[in-house]
Formats: sequence, C-alpha cells, structure tokens
Amino acid sequence: MAADKLAVTRATFDEVILPVYAPAAFVPVKGKGSRVWDQQGKEYIDFSGGIAVTALGHCHPALVEALKTQGETLWHTSNVFTNEPALRLASKLIAATFAERVFFANSGAEANEAAFKLARYYAGKRHSPYKSKIIAFHNAFHGRTFFTVSVGGQPKYSDGFGPKPADIVHVPFNDLEAVKAVIDDHTCAIVVEPIQGEGGVMPATAEFMQGLRKLCDEHQALLVLDEVQSGMGRSGKLFAYEHYGVQPDILTTAKALGGGFPISAMLTTNEIAATMSPGVHGTTYGGNPLACAIAETALDIINTDEVLSGVEARRELFVAALKTLDAQLDLFSDIRGKGLLIGAALKPQHAGKARDILNAAAEEGVMILNAGTEVIRFAPSLVIEPTDIQEGMVRFARAVEKVLA
Ligand SMILES: *Cc1c(COP(=O)(O)O)cnc(C)c1O
Repeated sequence: MAADKLAVTRATFDEVILPVYAPAAFVPVKGKGSRVWDQQGKEYIDFSGGIAVTALGHCHPALVEALKTQGETLWHTSNVFTNEPALRLASKLIAATFAERVFFANSGAEANEAAFKLARYYAGKRHSPYKSKIIAFHNAFHGRTFFTVSVGGQPKYSDGFGPKPADIVHVPFNDLEAVKAVIDDHTCAIVVEPIQGEGGVMPATAEFMQGLRKLCDEHQALLVLDEVQSGMGRSGKLFAYEHYGVQPDILTTAKALGGGFPISAMLTTNEIAATMSPGVHGTTYGGNPLACAIAETALDIINTDEVLSGVEARRELFVAALKTLDAQLDLFSDIRGKGLLIGAALKPQHAGKARDILNAAAEEGVMILNAGTEVIRFAPSLVIEPTDIQEGMVRFARAVEKVLA
C-alpha cells in the first residue's frame, strides 16, 4: 500500500470538505450491481444510481475489465494528440444518433458550457453578433459553471456570484405560448431538458418539443437538448429525443455515459461544427483514452435491445409498487417520468417531507433521491435485478410508514 490509510468517518466530512453538500449519515465503501455496503458493513439497495450515473450498476464486470485493460495501456495524452478510444467512441455515438461531430469533456456542465458557447459562436459567425439570446426554462438544471448555472432556471443557484452572463431569458416549461412571446430573430438557441431531472422529474410534452423545433426553424435558432440525465438509455431509448420525433441541433450527455467514470459529450452536426476551428474551445482531460474506453464499453452494452427494452419492464415494477403504496397511504399526487427516471410527487399534506423520507429510507437500507422538496426520485441501474426492485420497495415502504407515523 503506497499511502497510509487515515481513519475517516462521516464526521471528517464536516471538517475537511467545502460545505456545499449535506451527504447522508453513512459512508458507502463498496458496491456490486445494485447493492452497496457502508463502513459498518450494512447493506443497501441502490435506487439512486449515483444520480442516474451508474446505469450498469456498481463495478459491472465489463466496465471493470475496460478500466483495467485501458489502465494498463494508456491513460492520458491531452488533445495535442488524439487517441483510439476517443475516435471509436465518437464514431459509435455518431452511428447511434442524429450527430456527425462529437466534442468530449468531463462533466455535464462542461458539455453544456461547450454547447452554449457553440450556439452563440455559430449564430455570430453565420448570422449576426447580436444573435445571442438564449431561451431556457424555469426549474431547468444545466450544471454549475457560471454560464450553465445562469442558463439553468433556479436563480437560487446562480445568485451571489456577481454579474451574470447576459441575454438569457427564462420562461415556464411546457408552455409554448411563453416561448413564442420571447423568441425573435436575435435568438441563437432554445435550451431544454426533454425530461427535467433536478427540476422535479418533469417530461416535456410531445407538442412542446415539436413546437420548439418549429420555432427554432422559423427563427434560425438552434435546438439544444440537455440529455445529461435523460440520455444513455435512461428513458428506455438511447436518447430521450427519440420519444418525440424531434431532432436536436446540439445534444449533451454525461451522467451514464461512463457508467460512473467521469466523461461527457456534446454532439452536433457538420454544418454547425464547421464554424469552429483549432483553439476556439478545448479541455485538457476531455476525451482521454481511459474515460473513452470505459464509455465505449458502456455504450456497447446499453445500446442493445436487451438493455433498452428491459428499462420499461423495470419501470413497471417500480410504478406498480408505488401505486400500491399510494393506495395504502394516500401519498402521491403524481407518478411520472420516463423509463427509469421516475418521480413520485408528494401530496400537499406531505409537502417538504422528501428529505425525511430519504433519510428514513437509508436507515431501512435503500438509497433514493429527491428532486426538490416535493418529489421522490428513483434513478437506478438500467439492469437492476427485479428481485432488488421488490426488496428495495419493501424497505422504501417501511421508511415511508415510519415518517408518516
Ligand atoms: C447533472 C446534470 C448536469 C450537470 O452535470 P455535472 O456532471 O454535475 O456537471 C447538467 N444537466 C442536467 C440535465 C443534469 O442532470
């Protein structure tokens, strides 16, 4: 062992980590499939998937193999040199989507930062430097860099950091009339999550998505889809836009792309990509061979009938269990989402209890998420065992009963 192992606990967090998170009381140390163990050896069923990231569960053998093989071959080159895994992964993403060009980065925010810069740059080059307006939506989440958090629709996340990037307009989600009222020929892009994740697991309607496409075409604006959370099989299709019969101009994806290894991608067309040239944008780590080799393996597994069609069957198990619980406890006002991105909105009489339910669930041995204070969110592995869903929902039901008691 090269480094001495200090004894650390959850209390260490409060002493050494920037206080921007409030992690659960337990510290996970090991995971396998959809099961996780903490420092005390207690076992949990994981319905959180590391926030829609570990789409193939923990330590999937094929991903471990890719990590080991590439880890003993070549980790990093920088973009001064290209590499085989990046070229292969880009080729496969292009083959599987609308896209013709790929830019790799390391996180969702970075992919979105690249997307928003590209949208502005393209409009400036092709049309006018004044075509810079970005239309985005209330409750949207696009990441935490200053540009992406400003495009996001929750001012509480972007306030307090000084002057914000200008020319960003927010309107209500799923409200086409509101978009019509603000879109004009100075608009360079509409930015939207096909399923708002952090904002409450709220899917866009088909009319809304199709209407946005039409408005973009009428005003020569780009449709930018943030599929950081909804992409890579989460919705039951490789990308959620496939549900809507609408093609984007730019799409970003991240969370599940590396199955837990940090990597993100921005996809676009030749026409839009052609406005950029060497030096206009970049990243040191983006597209490194280690991340790309793992993501290539994840994509190979996720983009199969077997995995994608299994998503809907698993969703049905979750929804059935949630409906049974609702029938007993009169708990939810809505059960929504697509595929294995599931939101259960609490009824007004239980408002504000999402976090309490989360904590109680952990005590009962099941890891879940919230999306705001009113919505319980499930974003498990796409290949979670049906028996794990059943056992996890039994634990979840116990947790809810305790909170309500
Ligand atoms: C998580 C998320 C992001 C940000 O991704 P990071 O990897 O945390 O930077 C952006 N957009 C959506 C829709 C997300 O869910």
